[in-house]
Amino acid sequence: MSHSKGIHHITAVAGDPKENHRFYTETLGLRLVKKTVNFDDPSVYHLYYGDESGNPGSILTFFPWEHLRDGSPDRGQVVAVSFSVPTGSKAFWLEHLRNHGLDIEEPFSRFGKEVIGLQDPDGLHLELVLDPEANSYDGWSDGAVPQQHAIRGIHGATLGEKEYQSTGALLENFLGFQLTNQLENRYLYESEASFGSTIEIIDQFGPRGRSGKGTVHHIAFRAEDEQEQLSLCEKLEYKGYYLTEVKDRDYFKSVYFHEPGGILFEIATDPPGFTRDEELNELGSSLKLPDWLEHERHVIEEELPSLNN
Ligand code: ZN
Repeated sequence: MSHSKGIHHITAVAGDPKENHRFYTETLGLRLVKKTVNFDDPSVYHLYYGDESGNPGSILTFFPWEHLRDGSPDRGQVVAVSFSVPTGSKAFWLEHLRNHGLDIEEPFSRFGKEVIGLQDPDGLHLELVLDPEANSYDGWSDGAVPQQHAIRGIHGATLGEKEYQSTGALLENFLGFQLTNQLENRYLYESEASFGSTIEIIDQFGPRGRSGKGTVHHIAFRAEDEQEQLSLCEKLEYKGYYLTEVKDRDYFKSVYFHEPGGILFEIATDPPGFTRDEELNELGSSLKLPDWLEHERHVIEEELPSLNN
């Protein structure tokens, strides 16, 4: 099994882009590593947050569709996104989040790790997991959160499913995860990646919800390169999955399909990454557009709201 197997990025739907930007950069201390537009709807931002260089396994992205209705977690959706923070950072984060006016849950233990639950401004359920893996990596030194406490990457995602078996088999047979633990109707799958290595499936998830602001749009898993992506796609197609064509997302190549429970899955390549069109120290500082939209830059820039006050 490849050590790089795990979550590449998670993409969610937000409301006000300014509020989203403020929360993820100032409250959570992530770095805006790319400011671009939704390639399928250039009137809307596509904001990528991550660690200092936007490593695969650290990236949470948003489409801020302000006009969209509020969503609520649904069966057949990603219902929580968790981040890894160092094990010694609990007191810092509790105080920091309360100072930012957040109504946070009392920390609790799950599968041997302490978890702090919270919600983003649009109601997306987030978790900070006190994760020993985070202790071995440096945080971003230039963010709004002190380096020693900074989020190191995505810990994992929780999927709400009608039944866990089919999605579990997909994770185990194709995506590099193994079932490692179970607690009542919650099943823990882990990969060998340092970050983005955890998928939890809640079996018999309910009640019904709906997609919209504050819900996850899709979850992407890592392929080492285009060749591995292709071979994975061939295996999935042979198994009967319907896959889209390969789409060039500028910072990775993407293929999408629906997993058995209905969640949109993506296979994304690690290369070329976010330094493709910006230096490391400039990531996220200017609006980046794909070549085929450059001629519309003037109109696009005029329509997009400013992210800063
Ligand atoms: Zn994606």
